[in-house]
Amino acid sequence: AKELLRQSDKLSALGQLAAGIAHEIRNPLTSLRGFVQLLQSSLDDNQKRYCEIMLSELDRINFIVSELLVLAKPQGVKFQQKDLAKIVEDVLSFLDSQANLNNIQIHTSIHSQLPLISCEENQLKQVFLNICKNAIEAMPEGGEIYVQVAQDSESEVSVRIRDTGCGIESAHIPRVGEPFYTTKENGTGLGLMISSRILEDHGGSIHIESQRQQGTTVSVLLPISRYT
Ligand code: ADP
Ligand code: MG
Repeated sequence: AKELLRQSDKLSALGQLAAGIAHEIRNPLTSLRGFVQLLQSSLDDNQKRYCEIMLSELDRINFIVSELLVLAKPQGVKFQQKDLAKIVEDVLSFLDSQANLNNIQIHTSIHSQLPLISCEENQLKQVFLNICKNAIEAMPEGGEIYVQVAQDSESEVSVRIRDTGCGIESAHIPRVGEPFYTTKENGTGLGLMISSRILEDHGGSIHIESQRQQGTTVSVLLPISRYT
C-alpha cells in the first residue's frame, strides 16, 4: 500500500494559526510550571504527588506546543543552497546513540556530489528526525534502518528511509499525517503532518509504503536547486 501525503493548502493557514496559538500558550505555561514547583515544596507527601502529576501534564502540553511551533515559518531565515547528503548525515549522527541503545543498526547508501537543493536546513533536519524517530519507535525489539540518498531524476533528489518495524495496516496509511493521528500511547500525531507541511514549503513531497509486520519505507523527494 502506498500513499502520497498531501494535506493541501488548508494546512498552511491552519499551521500558521496553530503556531501562533502555541506561541501564546508558552508563556503562561512556563509561569504555571514555576508556581506549581514552588507550591510543591510546602506540601505534604500526598499533595506532593498531585503536584508531580500536574508537572508531568504541563510537560506534556509543553511538548505538544513545541511540536506545533515548528509550523511557524522561520522568521528572517532564508532558503540556502545546501547539500542534502550532509543534512541527512548530520541527523543520522545525532541519532546514532539512540539507535544503538535500541539495538538498531543504521545502514547508509549516500551518493556524494549530488546537486544542491534550496532549503531551510533546520526545518529539513526536523523532517528527517521525525521520520527516523518513527522508524526507531516502530522497532521496540531492535532492527534495521536503511537510508538512501540519491538523485532520482534530472530535477529531483530523494531520501528513502526504510525500517524493518511493525509496519502500518494498509487501511490506516491514508490517516498517517492527519493532525493528531497517532497509534502510540505517548504520540502527538503531529510529526508527519508537520513534515509534509515543511516539504510542501520546499516544493517537495513525502510518500509512505508499508507492509504490516514487514516494515515501512518513507520517501522524501526534493527539487534540485536550478529547478525551484
Ligand atoms: P507520532 O509519532 O507522534 O504518533 P507521527 O505523525 O510521527 O506521530 O506518526 C503518525 C503515525 O503513523 C504513528 O503513530 C504510526 O502509527 C504511524 N507511523 C509513522 N511512521 C511509521 C513507521 N516507520 N512504522 C510504523 N508506523 C509508522
Ligand atoms: Mg512521530
